[in-house]
Amino acid sequence: MSSLFPALTDGPAGGSADRPALRFGERSLTYGELAAASGAVAGDLKGVRTAAVWAAPTLETAVAVTAALLAGVVVVPLNPKSGERELGHILGDSAPDVLLAAPGTALPDAPAALPRVDVDPARGAGPGSVPDDRERDPEDPALIVYTSGTTGPPKGAVIPRRSIASTLDALADAWRWTDADVLVHGLPLFHVHGLVLGTLGPLRRGGSVRHLGRFTTEGVARELNSGATMLFGVPTMYHRVAESLPAEPDLVRALSGARLLVSGSAALPVHDHERITAATGARVVERYGMTETLMNTSVRVDGETRPGSVGVPLPGVELRLVEEDGTPVASYDGETVGEIQVRGPNLFTEYLNRPDATADAFTADGWFRTGDMAVRDPGGDVRIVGRKATDLIKSGGYKIGAGEIENALLEHPGVREAAVTGEPDADLGERIVAWVVAADPQSPPGLEELADHVAARLAPHKRPRVVRHLDVLPRNDMGKIMKRALTHG
Ligand code: ATP
Ligand code: MG
Repeated sequence: MSSLFPALTDGPAGGSADRPALRFGERSLTYGELAAASGAVAGDLKGVRTAAVWAAPTLETAVAVTAALLAGVVVVPLNPKSGERELGHILGDSAPDVLLAAPGTALPDAPAALPRVDVDPARGAGPGSVPDDRERDPEDPALIVYTSGTTGPPKGAVIPRRSIASTLDALADAWRWTDADVLVHGLPLFHVHGLVLGTLGPLRRGGSVRHLGRFTTEGVARELNSGATMLFGVPTMYHRVAESLPAEPDLVRALSGARLLVSGSAALPVHDHERITAATGARVVERYGMTETLMNTSVRVDGETRPGSVGVPLPGVELRLVEEDGTPVASYDGETVGEIQVRGPNLFTEYLNRPDATADAFTADGWFRTGDMAVRDPGGDVRIVGRKATDLIKSGGYKIGAGEIENALLEHPGVREAAVTGEPDADLGERIVAWVVAADPQSPPGLEELADHVAARLAPHKRPRVVRHLDVLPRNDMGKIMKRALTHG
């Protein structure tokens, strides 16, 4: 395999030494500086097999991960906002030899107990010292990333070098992503979206990243209006963009001029997508992926816009829908719901220390069961209906996806946020419950109004039977709605 980062291992001969690589706030590194800093950190990792990284949204984190991957050290990114218990679980499970962090970082007990390696991005190690990863086995583990914990306790997915290279190259192909691209980044660095796509992606291409530290619409506007070309975000960010556009002409200009806007990690509400397109003329390219599979599908960058679709399988990825009895859906009609299964070079190898969960996750012939339910249009576009575990409501003999009801509710002017779940019902099996954050808390829309609104757009059996008003929806750090928290207390 070639290097994960040719611009680091093949430069400065490749002419990339003076090109910008990373910028976090006021601090930045060129490729030459990043190569030197990586060499210095790698020098401190001799004999280390696995390193936890305190993955704050900082230059240190990006340098630590790059250096470790080049040196063949397995990286376990830690969420700095995790509680002591979760950190203890992850560190006990992955058993890292050291912890990489910025000098002076205050740490909770569990990570503080590990031998610590300070990461100093300003340190150079002299020419020729960048570790050469070109001969490493593509099947070697590179990352252990814990899933978001949306449906249960997080599991450690072991991601080999091969998955990272293949998913980033497939995205480069699909998105025409080049070394001329400059990414605006406002995501955390301990999940696949912000780490693999948002940080390793630009570095593999030889382009650059500008991290906002904390996402703001002003930051997005400033960067896209001063040379940045792309934005990767989660739906809650695009929601804030959609809300801000009417009052922020700089943001309208920024999005209109951007080369590529990408959304992922959860479903992008149709209403937000439509508002963004109406205000800016720009479309948001939705892609679908998971910790275990990295990226599976993307909307075609030059095709028709179809809000609500996650597009088609990426180059090299095989995707099928499978019905409850295990038979693959034979022809795509836009209506038959099946579980998404995927196969390809993008897949992880196993859940760490969980042979049971790993075995359950794969079919005998190597397809990964995603747990996500979808339909496919005759043209091949995938539309995610929701997760098998939490988003499929069996009511009155129908199988109803929460997502389309949520999209319909969000079109009601009185609704700011919405989540739909099922709960046991003596007559219907399950009844549809709408959890709503009202646009105006003083006059929240009532059950009858919302039920009529949904029934007018979808079908009568899809109308909510119960409405519960909340001040906010419970969301995790990627903005994903934690439906377990709604239904269990
Ligand atoms: P856990 O597996 O611990 O319950 P999680 O599944 O949320 O958490 P991730 O691997 O971060 O952890 O997220 C992958 C999931 O996110 C997918 O299985 C899918 O349900 C959802 N997802 C990602 N992108 C999209 C998208 N574009 N549209 C709809 N859902 C998406
Ligand atoms: Mg999952």
